[in-house]
Formats: sequence, C-alpha cells, structure tokens
Amino acid sequence: MDRRVPVGHVRPGQNWAMRVLVVEDDKAIASALHRALEREGYSPVTVGTAADALNALPVDFILLDLGLPDRDGLELVARLREVSPAPVIIVTARGTEVDRVAGLDLGADDYVVKPFGVRELVARMNAVLRRVGGRDADASDQRVGALEVDRRTRSVRVELTELSLTPKEYAIIEFLARDPGSVITRQELLDAVWGSDWYGSTKMIDVHVAALRKKLGDAVVVETVRGVGFRLVEPR
Ligand code: CA
Repeated sequence: MDRRVPVGHVRPGQNWAMRVLVVEDDKAIASALHRALEREGYSPVTVGTAADALNALPVDFILLDLGLPDRDGLELVARLREVSPAPVIIVTARGTEVDRVAGLDLGADDYVVKPFGVRELVARMNAVLRRVGGRDADASDQRVGALEVDRRTRSVRVELTELSLTPKEYAIIEFLARDPGSVITRQELLDAVWGSDWYGSTKMIDVHVAALRKKLGDAVVVETVRGVGFRLVEPR
C-alpha cells in the first residue's frame, strides 16, 4: 500500500518549524504580519531590505513586499528564484495586472494585494505548499546535499556510491528526504514506513535510524529532535 504523503503537505502541529521570511519595510505591517504568523504557528523572520532578505536565507517560505527601499521587489523575486527553492508570495500594495503578471512570470507562486486578511494569506500559503508538494512528489529523484534518492530504482547514492540499505532503512530515508529541514514526527515516520495500522513502541524507529546513520556516514545528518522526531539536514 502506498502511504506516501506529498512533500510540503501541511501536517497538523508541524507549521511551527517553518521559517517564513517577511520582507517588508513598513514597520507597522511587518510587525502585524510577524505577530500573526507567530500566532499561526510559523517561525517568522522579518527584514526591511532586499539585502537583508538575501542574507536571511535559507528559509522555508518567503512573503515579499514589492516596494523596498534598496532594490525593486520584482528584481528581488528573480534573484530569490536563482538562489532559493522556497515558495514566494508577493504581498504588495501594487495590484495592477502588469505587476501581477510580471511577478508570477519571474517565479512568484502567488500574489496578495494589500490590504488583506491574515487568514486569507495563511490559506494561500497552505495552497502554495500543497501545490509545491505535488510538484516535488512527482520528481523521481530527490537530492539532499551529497545524498541522492532514486525512487524508480529505490536506491540511495552518496556521490556515486550506492548504499546497501534494508527496505525499512530505505523507506525512512526516502520519507525524510521528501521534506529536508522539516521535523518529521515519530508517528508520521511510523505511519509512512510501518503503516498506520501498525502499533507498538516508536522506540523501534531509533534502532533503524541508528543503523541508517552509520551507513549514511557524514553525507547527510539525521538529527534527533528530542521528544518530537527527526529531521534530515545537510552537514554543517
Ligand atoms: Ca514597501
């Protein structure tokens, strides 16, 4: 049975880990957005210039005002697209058709015109995440640092060397690699790898993860997030 969940699928209780970059030079709007995102469980990082925005990367999601003091917002969209895979929603007072089309052409995922409700914004963020997730889930190869997961052949390579993994180890790394940087709970991993009708101690996962870590070496790091689960990250 295929229990895979698309990448970017918004899991209840998981939004808190998501770093949202708010690029907005209007301090009142920036702080209102910052507070609202915190209330919704996101982890916002607020900056007022394009330069600071680029310095704040990597993040998981970007909310971008087009009218910035140091650089045109549309230029910044194009630049962000070159250096960051994070989805971008343009949040701006400009709402002309020309700007809208230009922003989306340059790679923004959606567009919200001020004034807007926070609920609308969050709904749009979630819609973008689902869309992006669908896109990524279709890809047969997933790369995280030096690690490459090939879903067609169910094989995992580090550089060009194929790792010898057990089916459970493969399923664990494949699931973690769908959403690198995000915390995956033990329960999610259990559901994905053992099936949601399986029940027993989630401690068993640690045994498989420990074996997996040995095989991965220092190509990627399966971090333990104490009391929660795991997160796949590139080595620092
Ligand atoms: Ca502005």
